[in-house]
Amino acid sequence: MEGIVVQKYGGSSVADAERIRRVARRVVATHQTGRPVVVVVSAMGDTTDHLIELARQISPSPPKREMDMLLSTGEQVSIALLAMAIQEEGAEAISLTGAQVGIRTDSQHMRARIQEVRTERILHELSQGRIVIVAGFQGIDDLNDITTLGRGGSDTTAVALAAALKAERCEIYTDVDGVYTADPRVVPEARRLEWVAYGEMLELASLGAVVLQPRAVEYAAQHGVVLWVRSSFVEGPGTVVREVSPMEHARVVVGVTHDRNVAKVVVVDVPDRPGVAHQLFNALAQEEINVDMIVQTTKAQQATDLLFTVTRDDLPRAKQIVEAVARDLGATAVQEDPSVAKVSIVGAGMMSHPGVAARMFGALAEGGINIHVISTSEIKISCLIDEERVEEAVRRVHQAFRLDQLDSEEAPAPQEATS
Ligand code: ADP
Ligand code: ASP
Ligand code: MG
Repeated sequence: MEGIVVQKYGGSSVADAERIRRVARRVVATHQTGRPVVVVVSAMGDTTDHLIELARQISPSPPKREMDMLLSTGEQVSIALLAMAIQEEGAEAISLTGAQVGIRTDSQHMRARIQEVRTERILHELSQGRIVIVAGFQGIDDLNDITTLGRGGSDTTAVALAAALKAERCEIYTDVDGVYTADPRVVPEARRLEWVAYGEMLELASLGAVVLQPRAVEYAAQHGVVLWVRSSFVEGPGTVVREVSPMEHARVVVGVTHDRNVAKVVVVDVPDRPGVAHQLFNALAQEEINVDMIVQTTKAQQATDLLFTVTRDDLPRAKQIVEAVARDLGATAVQEDPSVAKVSIVGAGMMSHPGVAARMFGALAEGGINIHVISTSEIKISCLIDEERVEEAVRRVHQAFRLDQLDSEEAPAPQEATS
């Protein structure tokens, strides 16, 4: 089918009845241009957070299968209400759950990955002139059990549908009018990016810019789906996330991000011999705990300290595992610190520009902000710092790279043609 438009509306865009009606009007306006429209919606407002909190009141570690059963209800509410609102506007609409569409995933509850998207049902409904409303964030596994795709997963549902339907457009509507050089809630002078490359967006998202789920960006890159991030509240050009050719101007730094879901663990005085790191990190890997930054410092007397970070959510489990291994190895102590955060800069041009790291460290030093750990890749630099300084750090780094002026570089030439 030609010209399909996929639109995704996040939780704040459908937070109450009035907003749902507003989304309905917007969807109907697109449909009236003659295009087939598929809409993906998230749960209303903070519904998912509330459901998680409710589960915690029942059990400190609820079974993941039951969490998925619970969390998927949020999206089921919003698809039904949006379908009703669209029908009130005089257009035809039908709501479908992930299972009804045939969004097949693996069985990793709460972080399932999409394996296949069936399109027959959607195409049939579209051919009848209906607007199709799909529940974001959910799918179904081989046992027909409901799965969810991890926080922010409705973005991935939208991208997967756009890819499977070979949609002409995939629009992500949210409460900001695009991807910014930093979280605009933290840095008021942050600038909207006209465009951003998949690789940069993947780093930004993975390092804390929640505006897109990292998996959605990865999926879009793999399937060549161009994403258009826009505001559901105001009209505007938004940000386009796409492939960028090496010929295009690579910006040194496109953004600063921060992530508070980080905790530091230090294993003190582990013996300095082969196999130690393997034993420790293997034990964590077996329990599917992701380790991010790692530093080993050599001390006297053949002992070293091993410092690493995990997400704060994983800290209790990580601690248990590490303490057992530390006893085995004869380490003197295991220290934990959940009050840290990570501040990062991202940009495809940094690999060819010397001095970028020094500038970032200089900005932190000027504020007297101590760096615990540093990690780098070709297109990003991350520093672990105290959580209480993180917003200040983001503002200082943003300022140091003059990101408040970034789009003057990329703006079209001033109106020469018309003057
Ligand atoms: P939705 O409910 O629509 O999925 P999210 O809350 O998941 O919305 O994502 C939008 C939020 O992402 C914004 O409100 C903003 O505070 C935050 N954000 C963090 N970093 C950035 C960034 N670099 N650019 C834009 N928004 C960002
Ligand atoms: N409702 C889910 C969440 O809050 C999915 C999403 O919003 O994308 O994470
Ligand atoms: Mg989101």
